[in-house]
Amino acid sequence: MTMKSSIVLGALVAAASATPTLRRRQYNTTKPVVTSEALQADISRENLLAGTQILEDFAYASPNRTRIIGSPGHNDTIYWLKEELEALDYYDVSLQNFFTVAMVSGQINTFVVNGVNTSADLLEYSASGTVTAPLVPVANLGCNATDYPAELAGKIALISRGSCDFGLKSVLAGNAGAAAAVIYNNAAGGFNGTLSAPPRPEGEYIASISITQELGTGYVEAITGGATINATVDVATVISNVSTYNVLATTKGGDQHNKLALGGHTDSVLAGPGINDDGSGTVGILEVAKALSKYEINNAVTFGFWAGEEEGLLGSTYYVENLPANETADIRAYLNFDMIASPNYVHAIYDGDGSAFNLTGPPGSAELESFLEDFFTSAGENFTATAFDGRSDYGPFLDVGIPSGGTFTGAEELKTEEEAEMFGGEAGVALDVCYHSACDNIDNLNLDAFELHGKAIASAVATYATSWEGFPARNTTVARRSIKPHARKASQPRHYRSKRSLPSRK
Ligand SMILES: [Zn+2]
Repeated sequence: MTMKSSIVLGALVAAASATPTLRRRQYNTTKPVVTSEALQADISRENLLAGTQILEDFAYASPNRTRIIGSPGHNDTIYWLKEELEALDYYDVSLQNFFTVAMVSGQINTFVVNGVNTSADLLEYSASGTVTAPLVPVANLGCNATDYPAELAGKIALISRGSCDFGLKSVLAGNAGAAAAVIYNNAAGGFNGTLSAPPRPEGEYIASISITQELGTGYVEAITGGATINATVDVATVISNVSTYNVLATTKGGDQHNKLALGGHTDSVLAGPGINDDGSGTVGILEVAKALSKYEINNAVTFGFWAGEEEGLLGSTYYVENLPANETADIRAYLNFDMIASPNYVHAIYDGDGSAFNLTGPPGSAELESFLEDFFTSAGENFTATAFDGRSDYGPFLDVGIPSGGTFTGAEELKTEEEAEMFGGEAGVALDVCYHSACDNIDNLNLDAFELHGKAIASAVATYATSWEGFPARNTTVARRSIKPHARKASQPRHYRSKRSLPSRK
């Protein structure tokens, strides 16, 4: 077998060198020019689902079942993307390294009050600690050192939410000698929050958890009435210096001075695998990158897979801040896709023209919005607007004057009656009930939305990779923070669609 084929190969090589024209024709295979229809046809729900299944497998391969930065699940995501993109031989692929602090694991082992197991949430960046001691209410909202009584030493501070950030409360409680801090909500129910990444000038965090308003005010009342409430708080967290990466892939072909950039984020929160947020955007963009490699293009395209979005847009900020000015000027537009398969979805488009939210993107943002509106209209679908509230990776691009757009299918907001009429699904239920939770896995995806938004990405990439005709030129002299208020027309409805990717800080 081996011998025979090498003889045949030898004969072919001899023939090829004898007839150079034949050889040239054989290797000079030209690809068809990309079109929106062709690229959309390459996006299938089977491939989208298969890609997100791989991300879920990465998360579930380790006990924390997460893809938070620094975790094995996130690192596997990064290397998988790099390999998938390199294998296409169509892109210059690189990993862009940056460093940050992250809480890579954490849990409440015990929260027992007067002998009763009680539910509580861990505050991100809490210190580890174990204590059994009385709860001691703190005066006012616990934003001043003087609010913390001397009797707090060695005990557990009971603090109301409000006014200042959780991190300050944890530090002030610690400075007063408290062994743990319990922060209760100032509205019905409980909450998830962050102390924000250390270090902090005022001091060190102590073990810190959050509880419902009902529990907190009940304890305060009982203690004020003369009762003693004993509690055990046992919290274990790991806070590490993390080295992580953005994955960047730029087409080798196309005009590098008139580039389209697009992106989504590769990381999840600690609580879950992040398959809708933002495995859906990651895989949607990757599938378009794979499909694009079959075609010729006129304009270059950069695909950005950002890390550390959940810690405060770290990766996209690092990318933009380290981009040389001439390369920033080369980016004609940026498109962001962060959650595109929400189970109780809406089809939301970033409000580039400022008509719904009073915040207008740089020139070109309105055109991106209108392009995507046309896409959904052609697909026979309704659409709504989502605000440029700075809560996803478009923020750093807007800050340097790059027109931005993109789509979003919704996070923890409840679906309105009007939206249920427009998009189906259930009114009064969160657009993504598993947002930032352990259940944000494969079963959380709506595949109709996923496929449609995948095709929206394909359509935009094919269109702008072909031509910028009719698109405003970049105003590269624009100042930073170019996003500016825009007088909202009174008649226009206001669809508030914030994506709270950043956990509350106060
Ligand atoms: Zn996200």
